Amino acid sequence: MQALPEGGEKGKARCVRLFDTEKREILPLEPVDGKTYRFYCCGPTVYGPAHIGNFRTFVLQDVLRRALEIGGLKTKHVRNITDVDDKTIRDSVAAGQTLEEFTAKWRDQFNVDCQALNCLKPHIEPSAVKHIPEQITMIEELIEKGNAYASDDGSVYFKISSYEGYGKLSRLDTRELALGKTQNERANSDEYDKDNAADFVLWKVRRDEDGENYWESPWGQGRPGWHLECSAMIRKYLGATFDLHSGGVDLIFPHHDNEIAQSQCSCGGEFAKHWFHITHLRVDGAKMSKSKGNLYTLSDLEAKGHSAMEVRYVLLSGHYRKPINFTLDSLHAAKEALAKLARAAAGRDTPNYRESLKGDDYGVFSLALKKLNEDLNTAGALGELFSHLKSARSEADWHGFFAVLAALGLTLPKVDATEVPAEIQELAKRRWEARQAKDWAVSDQLRGDLAAQGWVVKDGNDGYEVVPS
Ligand code: AMP
Ligand code: ZN
Repeated sequence: MQALPEGGEKGKARCVRLFDTEKREILPLEPVDGKTYRFYCCGPTVYGPAHIGNFRTFVLQDVLRRALEIGGLKTKHVRNITDVDDKTIRDSVAAGQTLEEFTAKWRDQFNVDCQALNCLKPHIEPSAVKHIPEQITMIEELIEKGNAYASDDGSVYFKISSYEGYGKLSRLDTRELALGKTQNERANSDEYDKDNAADFVLWKVRRDEDGENYWESPWGQGRPGWHLECSAMIRKYLGATFDLHSGGVDLIFPHHDNEIAQSQCSCGGEFAKHWFHITHLRVDGAKMSKSKGNLYTLSDLEAKGHSAMEVRYVLLSGHYRKPINFTLDSLHAAKEALAKLARAAAGRDTPNYRESLKGDDYGVFSLALKKLNEDLNTAGALGELFSHLKSARSEADWHGFFAVLAALGLTLPKVDATEVPAEIQELAKRRWEARQAKDWAVSDQLRGDLAAQGWVVKDGNDGYEVVPS
């Protein structure tokens, strides 16, 4: 993607406002440096295919970027690849592959899925395993400043009692488990229980089961703990203070609280000015998990005949601060909704993303963008899109229509404007039968149902025709 002019496009001053997890209020997003909005997203752990829950988070982060750019801001989007941790090492060893071979396969699959979902490519996608020297440097600084210690077992831990602000993002002090109770405990696993506040590992001593996956360090052979990679890569690519940090809600504690501790103690600075967390996707009313058999990947859904765009539509159909309950039925509804938008726009050329960034008159769709800009209300923006579909007339209206689609990252399927969907044909047939039976109430009701979906029936002497309204 080409860069926008510095400071964004002249004349645009539409500001995106977003809920901040730390300050617990909706605040305007403005770049610290007055020029470029710089943000970091914790990326995928590449030990298997990402599931559609992960993609809820990545799609929302993509929408945030699009909303900022359509508002006239230049952005710098950094998203890491977690290619060294407990899970990637465990599974690469089990697969008999090198860590590099194993993670490359899943990283490539992730990129294929992102492209199918029309997510803009981050400007920088650093790999954790390629930043081990930066992580070692950070540990050395933390030890020197008294925030970390090497233990007898050859690992290095962050001393949470050395940092007064520890746990401020997740408000650890107001949760049941207070810091003091557990500060003598240590967490060695990359992911530990969310109610277990403990000194966490920065450098893990080499274990037999790690195979060849170890690196030399001042503390002997081993590898970095998972929380450290983001702190080290953020410092390298965004500096000590940057605009926004994001992930799914499960990352608030301990991962993001640990990142704050590591970064503030080693680099000073403010770290992230704003925290953006996305609520989890649920499936058929339950948490998505392998054991329940309700974990879907994009490939699973494509194999069932659904498109990536239908998945994206479902992921945008609810507000990011509330859970979305994913069902296969919701994909059918998404297909119909996309087809309806496509029929309305049939015959018009879809501008490319760059063209959609131009201009600032969105006609009847101004409110849709306004809704999106107020705490990324994707569902509200979609609602506005449908509300004004019938009234779009002017060039500005159509520019607005495509700008809203571009902000949501939705592309439309190819449709034949005259093709009547099967369910519409069925409604029209039932209406004709009701009419033949002189059941005017049912006939009127069905005419209303058709109109609500954008169709009218024209009756002749011995038949009827259904056409888009
Ligand atoms: P992972 O690959 O496990 O490191 O996760 C990648 C991203 O997906 C992180 O930001 C997670 O917080 C997020 N995530 C995990 N599960 C879900 C879910 N069910 N819904 C939304 N986001 C999720
Ligand atoms: Zn992270």
